[in-house]
Amino acid sequence: MKLLITGGAGFIGSAVIRHIINNTDNEVINLDKLTYAGNLESLAEVSASERYSFEQVDICDRAEVDHVLAKHQPDAIMHLAAESHVDRSIDGPADFIQTNIVGTYTLLESTRQYWQTLAPAERVRFRFHHISTDEVYGDLPYPTHLGAFVEGGREGEEPFLFTEQTPYAPSSPYSASKASSDHLVRAWQRTYGLPVLITNCSNNYGPYHFPEKLIPLVILNAIEGKPLPVYGEGDQIRDWLYVDDHARALYKVLTEGKTGETYNIGGHNEKQNIVVVQTICDILQHLLPKDSSYRDQIIFVQDRPGHDRRYAIDASKIQRELGWVPEETFESGIQKTVLWYLANRDWCQRVQDGSYQRERLGVSKPD
Ligand code: NAD
Repeated sequence: MKLLITGGAGFIGSAVIRHIINNTDNEVINLDKLTYAGNLESLAEVSASERYSFEQVDICDRAEVDHVLAKHQPDAIMHLAAESHVDRSIDGPADFIQTNIVGTYTLLESTRQYWQTLAPAERVRFRFHHISTDEVYGDLPYPTHLGAFVEGGREGEEPFLFTEQTPYAPSSPYSASKASSDHLVRAWQRTYGLPVLITNCSNNYGPYHFPEKLIPLVILNAIEGKPLPVYGEGDQIRDWLYVDDHARALYKVLTEGKTGETYNIGGHNEKQNIVVVQTICDILQHLLPKDSSYRDQIIFVQDRPGHDRRYAIDASKIQRELGWVPEETFESGIQKTVLWYLANRDWCQRVQDGSYQRERLGVSKPD
């Protein structure tokens, strides 16, 4: 197969490309605008493969997207390109509306036009896989067994895990823009018959994660002796999934999933943010001992506005229907992640000092 992957220079997209090039015979075309979040150095181990190529294109640019589709004639598209950082969406929502909504619309229209030119058998086989987030569902009641209060008596009134049937209730500009894109993708299936798949996944973590996100930020600040900022009281709950487990799940859905279906993907790893931060501190204490405790670097900062309190995914459908289960527990995945950041200080340094953006590797424009 020839797979066009949008956002392949990002955190999850690069994991998907590494997974596909290393474990299958498929060809990959990486279509990425290279925003601040796009880093071709995350693809260094596969970019020399003759089955890999790169196109620096903005998904909002219809003419360039049309050109790439006509040039490469993909058998399937995995759409990961997005603005993805919630805090940035609060400070400036415009890019989120543009890329996540207008960009997805543009890609859908370009894909529809291309798909209609395919032979009937190819049209049936074609797949447009839209990668989305569990944040579209809003947040869940907060469990009392973790020792914290329950907001407004909501406990018991709603299901305790997000299922594929959970109504959408996004809270942030980021999650609202992703919810909009999910609706567009479903409409293109229903109205035009485009064969689509949607996956909604919980928080990912692992190697090559941009250092503005909680886990890499904490690891790097801890070893640099800087404060470890935690929002509010750190009691927000996220369901963490190791990024390589997500990459395997996405490839499974693309190749074995039923078009028109949605699959939730999650790690069954609900952790309070403060527990995540303390766990990283404890791993570092063991790996890089020092006189004081890394935990002493934790500081509590003003909470994010509209901060969702709890996300948790019911991933039983993908397990039951496609046989996918995560390979990593949170304990094994976080250990691997800390070790990766310690062993790859160069990659981190080049992100932190901006040199990854100044010296783009092998960038090509469509001819
Ligand atoms: P990321 O921010 O690390 O990467 C996004 C990539 O998209 C970057 O390479 C960037 O250059 C590219 N991009 C941005 N705007 C573009 C545009 N207009 N045209 C072309 N390329 C553009 O994001 P990520 O964490 O890898 O997330 C990938 C996808 O998975 C997103 O759609 C996100 O909503 C979804 N998701 C992420 C998580 C998570 O925990 N990170 C969880 C569930 C779902």
